[in-house]
Amino acid sequence: MKPTGKTFYEEAAQRSLAWHTENIRNIKSKRFDTIAVHGIYSMQEALDFNQGSIIEPIYMSSSQAYRDADEMEAALGYTIPTWCYSRIANPSVYYLEGVLALLEGYGADIETSCCATSSGMGAIQSAVDPFLVTDRGNPGQKINFVATSQVYGGTFQQFAVRKHQEKNIEWRKVIHSNNIEEWASLIDDNTRFLYGELPSNPGQAFFDLQAVIELAHAHGIPMIVDATVATPALMRPLALGADIVVQSITKTITSSGFGIGGAVIARKNIVSNVDNDEMKADFAAYIKLLPNRDNGPNISPFNAILALNDVRNLRTKMDRFSRNTMIVAEYLAQHKHIEQVDYLGLEDHPLHTIAKKYLKLVDSEHDPLYNKAVNRYGHLMSFRVKGGAQAARDVFDAFSMIWRATDLGRIKSVATIPAISTHSQQGEEGRKLADIPPNLIRLCVGGEHPDDIIADLDRGLSVLDGKKFQMTFPEYSAGGASSAILKK
Ligand SMILES: *Cc1c(COP(=O)(O)O)cnc(C)c1O
Repeated sequence: MKPTGKTFYEEAAQRSLAWHTENIRNIKSKRFDTIAVHGIYSMQEALDFNQGSIIEPIYMSSSQAYRDADEMEAALGYTIPTWCYSRIANPSVYYLEGVLALLEGYGADIETSCCATSSGMGAIQSAVDPFLVTDRGNPGQKINFVATSQVYGGTFQQFAVRKHQEKNIEWRKVIHSNNIEEWASLIDDNTRFLYGELPSNPGQAFFDLQAVIELAHAHGIPMIVDATVATPALMRPLALGADIVVQSITKTITSSGFGIGGAVIARKNIVSNVDNDEMKADFAAYIKLLPNRDNGPNISPFNAILALNDVRNLRTKMDRFSRNTMIVAEYLAQHKHIEQVDYLGLEDHPLHTIAKKYLKLVDSEHDPLYNKAVNRYGHLMSFRVKGGAQAARDVFDAFSMIWRATDLGRIKSVATIPAISTHSQQGEEGRKLADIPPNLIRLCVGGEHPDDIIADLDRGLSVLDGKKFQMTFPEYSAGGASSAILKK
């Protein structure tokens, strides 16, 4: 049948939207694991559009073709669903965004949406930049934002250098994030948002999220949360009233380590003192269709599907990782060469009580293994080696299974020394603020058997008793060698 004009397509879009809304309602009634496994990819989607493929296909195509000028006009005017061009939208990316939106909103009677990005840093930039604008007619206004000082190293740079130094947008740092008065004292009429990372990487700072959300809303500004370390399997800030969540999906969400990615997940109708109704109504859709269209921090469809494939068992994975980490933390806590172990799961951690209030394994009360709510604290921990920076390096160098890498959230155990890696750029002063001494090793415990992880830690720490290990490594590959030559 020959379509008759733009309205033909727009009416078809309305029918699709109604079906889609019903489909989401149906999926939302399922448990977390079921949503993670199936996401928004239904049998109908498979049979009508994807050759019956039971797994979400990878659409690497750059762009979408239209039937005629009317359909093109409607698509580019955003009045019908469209992929148009993969910088703006893409079917594979859409499947990932759909599942992440549902998981972050799980258990709450709220509507959520998601915009995936090329990295966690891209997600943070996409989440904060729309608020960092001056009031209309007041271009000289000096605006600010209030954010925890204990943040991921890349976030510290983005806030301190790209915003504060280069753009004169003041970052008001919250030093003791669990002190609500400190947050309150930093807010004024020119504050655009509150931002907190919890648990923070690597310091595991934590605060009373509910109280900070209430504070933000009392001032008419949004609460933005970096919940990368917790993942929606342990904490869902949107369900607690937060406006926006950012995830580095590079981390635990894609624990297999296949690539870099990020996501911004927002509730509908966020709170903001910026005069932009479209932005407030559906923040994730807004950034996707407008600022990110213009700035281009989109994720590759290939990475989107790899991430999606890893999300399916997020809950059980997070449970396992967390249990392993607890065992490792308890082992290290009693070790003679260890000065301090930082893990929110340990009862003597100063923030244990507040973390316990928020970090819970989703659906554990419906899990036949537990049949009750259980706390889980994730797989990020750190420890400080007695004897200072060199002792920590010596221990680190003797690991034979735990990878030495600036990475986090892996199925494989990975360790780093933040002072010389992730947090080297921010200098001594910045590291002091973030409480990152040079003898601190960040360990992200993976899915190996805990006995084997402990055996490798034991091997590392035995260096401090005088044990020596001869490690031999192959020559650099051609790629490594050529970059070494370039530096000469
Ligand atoms: C890694 C990380 C980021 C940045 O994510 P990328 O994907 O590396 O850009 C942001 N926040 C936290 C807490 C992180 O651990």
